[in-house]
Parts: sequence; C-alpha cells; structure tokens
Amino acid sequence: MTDKKYKFDTLTVHGGLNPESWYGSTLPPIFQTASHRFSTAEQLSDVFAGKVRGFIYQRLRNPTNEALENRITQLEGGVGAVVTSSGMAAIHNSLTAVLQSGDEMISGNSLFMSTYLLFANIFKKFGINVNFVESTALGEYEKKITPRTKAIFVESVGNPKMDVPDIEKLAAIAHQNNIPLVVDNTMPTPYLLNPFKLGADIVVHSTTKYLSGHGDALGGIVVDSGNFDWPKEKYPDFEMFKERAGEKAYLDKVWREIHINVGTSQSPFHSYLTMIGVDTLAVRMKRHVENVEKLVEFMVNHGKVKWVNHPSLKESPSYETVKKQFSRGCCALFTFGLSNQEECFNFIRNLQLVYNLANLGDCKTLVIHPYSSQYVSFDIATRTKLGITPDLIRVSVGIEAIEDIIADFEQALDKI
Ligand SMILES: *Cc1c(COP(=O)(O)O)cnc(C)c1O
Repeated sequence: MTDKKYKFDTLTVHGGLNPESWYGSTLPPIFQTASHRFSTAEQLSDVFAGKVRGFIYQRLRNPTNEALENRITQLEGGVGAVVTSSGMAAIHNSLTAVLQSGDEMISGNSLFMSTYLLFANIFKKFGINVNFVESTALGEYEKKITPRTKAIFVESVGNPKMDVPDIEKLAAIAHQNNIPLVVDNTMPTPYLLNPFKLGADIVVHSTTKYLSGHGDALGGIVVDSGNFDWPKEKYPDFEMFKERAGEKAYLDKVWREIHINVGTSQSPFHSYLTMIGVDTLAVRMKRHVENVEKLVEFMVNHGKVKWVNHPSLKESPSYETVKKQFSRGCCALFTFGLSNQEECFNFIRNLQLVYNLANLGDCKTLVIHPYSSQYVSFDIATRTKLGITPDLIRVSVGIEAIEDIIADFEQALDKI
C-alpha cells in the first residue's frame, strides 16, 4: 500500500496487503510455522535485540497476523494493533497492560457476558476493583472516579440492552481526569463507528463477529489510537515503553508485557480467514443494517410482539445519541419480547431458515433466548440488572433476502 488516502471501502479490500514480500500473492499467505529460521546468529540476535524488525516465533509475531493488524489499524485510524486468539483475550490484554493490584476501573454495566465475568471475578481476584455503572449515565462515571481509577471501559452498543453511550462526552470526562477510554467496538465495527474520531483512546474487537463475518474464525484485536500520553504520575510503569516505542507505548506494553507472555497469540489461519471476511465488511454491513431496519419495522407492527428494542427506534432511550453518533445505522442486532419464556421457546422451535445458536455478526440470521442460555447460571437479580428477562429473544440479522427472513419470522410467530 502506498501512502495514498484511500476510502474506507477500498481499505477493507486492499489495506494491510504486502504482495512484494509474498511473491505477488493477493491474499496474505498462511505462514504456518512456529519459528522462523535465520542464517546467522548475528541476524537472530539483531531481531531479538529489536535492532531489526523480523519474525522469530509465532507466539510473538507472525506475518499473516500482521497483515490483519495493519488492515484493522487503517480501518479504525489507529497507530497499530495486536491480534489475539479471541475477543476476550483482546479485552483482557487491553486492560491488564494498564491496571495493577489496588487499581480501580469503571465499566458500563451493559456488557458481553464473559467480559462481565472477567471484570467481576478474575480482575477482583487480582485486586483490581471494577465499578459498574449504567452505561449511558455519564454522571455516574464521574461520581465513581477516584485517584486510583486507571481506565474507563464501555461497549459502543450494549448487548442485549441495546444502549448506546455518548462516546464523545465520555472521552471528555475520562480525559479531564487523565484516564484513557477503552471501547469495545465489536457491534458497529469501524464501518458504522470510529470511536477514535470521538476521542476514545483504545479500541478492542471480537473479530469473531462482523469483521470475520462468516461464523468461522474466533479472534480479537486491540487497536491503539496513539493519542493518550500516559502521564508519569499516574502511569509510572509506562515510562520505559514510552522511551522505547513513543506514540506506540501502549501497544508495545500490550504486546511485550502481556500478549507474548500470556500466550494469547492468534492462529495465522484464523487471521487469514478474517482478512477474507474483512474484504466484504462494507457491503455486508450495508446489507446488515438495511435488513435490520426492515425486520424491526415488521416486528414493531406485529400483534404478537410485545415490544421491540433497537437503538434506532424513537422509543429507545439511546435514540438521540444514535442520531448524533451514527450516520448510516448503528448495529444489526435487536431484541424483542413475547408473552413469556414458553412463547419464546415455541417461536424458536418454529423457525425454519433462521438458526438458534450462541453467536452474532454472522452473515446468517441468528436468534437466541439469552435468559435460558448464556445467562442461565446467573442469579435472577443479576439477570434482571443486565436486562436479561425470560420474555426476551435476541436477533442478529443476517444478509439473506429480507423477504425470506421476514417470512420465516412471520410463520414462526403465527404458529405460537
Ligand atoms: C463476542 C464478543 C466478545 C468476546 O469475543 P470472543 O471472540 O467470543 O472471545 C466481546 N465483546 C463483544 C461485544 C462480543 O460480542
């Protein structure tokens, strides 16, 4: 790639390619090797010492993974990225590079299930206290900030609550207090939202979802904006990384201190699949949001549907923020309610085209009843707090012909 400024849709196809060093290959070759061989001890030493950039061992760095890192970095507008074996690994690494025992963090409470468990249980075990606040209530974040608060974390579109925090205002609150804002941007993808443009400092993704897009490869990524300056008084352990890596200090810390030693490395095959997925991100997302609008409209007008929750609906508490923050749709996920759990189960049993499974962001339309599946082992009070009720079905709208998706929902509803 030259330095020419291509548009987003072009970068999804061409970003991160390096055909000169791949014998002209138009896709990143799958460098399926644990280690890379060097002719001389001097050469290997230079790479280990950081004098020459190179590939040593797959847990550290891999050319296929690097192609994906470069592409997503361009799409998010950051200075660099580290791909990881899963979205959870990315979230873990993005925060453990910043936090240590005795520190505090504030997180919106509208969270992916494993993210919630990571914060509530694992971080707690290591002496990191996560304060959960209502994701969209900016005043609550401010109230919880203490001198020990080292990070603020939020999902750009909460799931399954479907609430949307004001990233610009939240970033301003974070920065007034010298705290970085970390955004899980899995749901909108950079096609619908660039958190860095709104002031976020770090973006994480589960690439398993829309970026990969085909329900095939698990993966995650941490992207650094390079904008946060990690003031010495508050983040003294960043000094060494600032000296070494300058504006990429955070990324260097994520990689050098956490990623390579925890072993959260991505399989090059998964990066290869994800690259192919990202090729079509723009056209898929366009179709996803067109389809979600039409299906939501159908559901809103169906007599058996008790309620529908999508942030683009006027009734949604997030409607104004969505209008301000998104210009071409905000996400292809929505939830709706039937009378009770039994009706939900009947509806799901009646579906013929649509899949019942635990995933989202696939090009196929998917549904799930979260109360009885992902959240089944949570006590009822916690489920209620997270907005997981027995009458709720979550829909991840795919890219099939919308007439077929609507017809399947219609026949499944008619039979209950
Ligand atoms: C799926 C998901 C994750 C976790 O990603 P994995 O790739 O499954 O580890 C994190 N955040 C959000 C918003 C997700 O949807």
